[in-house]
Amino acid sequence: MDKILILGGGPAGCAVAMGLKRLGYAVTLVTEGRPFAAIEGVSERVVDSLRSIGFQRALAHIEPPSPRWVTWNGVTSAANTERLIHRQAFDAAMLDDLRAVGVEVLFGRVRRCQLGQQAHSDHKIHVETDAGMRELTGQFLVEARGRAAPASGIERLRSAETVSLLQRWRAVTPESSLTARSAVESFEQGWAWMASMPNGERYLQLSLDVASAKLPPKSQLSDWCQRQFQQLEQAQPFIHNAQPEHIHARASTQILSRELIGDNWIRVGDAAMAVDTLSGNGIFQSMSSALQSPAVINTLIQTPERAELAKDFYHQRVEGLFYRFARTGRDFCRQEQQWPDSPFWSTRCNWPDSDPLHPPVTPDQAKIERRPVIHNQQIMAAWVVTTPDQPLGVWHIDGVELAPLIERIHNSEQPALDTLIQQVGENRAARLAPTLSSLGMI
Ligand SMILES: Cc1cc2nc3c(=O)[nH]c(=O)nc-3n(C[C@H](O)[C@H](O)[C@H](O)COP(=O)(O)OP(=O)(O)OC[C@H]3O[C@@H](n4cnc5c(N)ncnc54)[C@H](O)[C@@H]3O)c2cc1C
Repeated sequence: MDKILILGGGPAGCAVAMGLKRLGYAVTLVTEGRPFAAIEGVSERVVDSLRSIGFQRALAHIEPPSPRWVTWNGVTSAANTERLIHRQAFDAAMLDDLRAVGVEVLFGRVRRCQLGQQAHSDHKIHVETDAGMRELTGQFLVEARGRAAPASGIERLRSAETVSLLQRWRAVTPESSLTARSAVESFEQGWAWMASMPNGERYLQLSLDVASAKLPPKSQLSDWCQRQFQQLEQAQPFIHNAQPEHIHARASTQILSRELIGDNWIRVGDAAMAVDTLSGNGIFQSMSSALQSPAVINTLIQTPERAELAKDFYHQRVEGLFYRFARTGRDFCRQEQQWPDSPFWSTRCNWPDSDPLHPPVTPDQAKIERRPVIHNQQIMAAWVVTTPDQPLGVWHIDGVELAPLIERIHNSEQPALDTLIQQVGENRAARLAPTLSSLGMI
């Protein structure tokens, strides 16, 4: 059985490790701990994914849903909630979950990586550990070192360069009955995200355009950030009775690697594509790309005759996801209309393109096409229904194979709903009809 090396122990590397272990592979994950403290916010979708993968210990580090205040385009609302996580503790708990199912986790810094040139030839990596240098070999390599992953000469699509300054604040005097909460506010040079945890820790973050931000020298950065937060309405509860501590700059440019997979390697998570931090979907997207990769890797190893199909599947999925998130971020930026001449907003309102997030679809545009899908943890070709909004195709919904169903509906003279009822019965038709209609297929 081939040995698989995974570089990086964030959500993507951990999700792939868990999936591959379930498929029976020998997996070694190499990672250094997260180098800085940060709070991030996730949606219920992330919680559902973690639960379905079996990250029980990591789930215990997710705060209950807390209110998220938003001031955008001059309007304030508290419409939604998010769940806050302390990334260092959360990531450490994911590694505990991996160890509990028998994944080998090695702590250390990957210093050198020599790729095996053909399928089944060994990759060699050199890892600096507390006990000295270690050399590891494996037949398949998963690059999951996030934004720190070397570009390795691969062409990359990049948005306008963006930097996020994360400033930790701590309560001056202990406060009772604190609850987690977060807030977002736009301003002329960018946007701010603020979060506080029940223990009084607060993290305040400014996301800015690198080219136009005119940041002061490093020694004055903390005071500069403090002044920005003092001017923001939503920041007030987060800086009240608190002092800024240290500051950490994080690159948050959106990046898509144009080459994502070879015969014996794959890039997952932020190493494959890093999305807009504005939509708060980074962990979700990194787990989404990672969840599909065990079946892709399994196909490359077990059924190399389907390697091209597996690579196409992965490329199409990751690119599709990237553009969906990039256009979602662009549409958020378009909603902010107070500063049309600001370099931050004017560049981000038009990137990556002007295509709508969801193009309108009419039933005559639904086509039956052969596309790669996941079946029994392998990639195979199947007949699916594609539309301009679903270019990768939909294979099944609610256990029903769509291609033959849509073909019958389109070939029939009678109303679509009558054919649907004839084909799947009244109960299932009642469940399917709204979904098919929202997809524009009937
Ligand atoms: C400013 C900012 C704010 C964000 N806020 C949110 C948010 O609120 N919600 C959200 O969902 N997402 C957010 N994200 C995105 C989220 O952090 C990432 O999308 C997610 O962590 C990507 O997961 P990953 O596993 O691909 O990479 P990472 O989480 O970056 O994991 C990579 C791992 O590789 C390890 N590593 C790196 N180099 C080496 C090396 N040489 N040797 C060994 N190990 C190494 C690192 O220590 C790390 O453990 C934010 C991102 C930024 C930049």
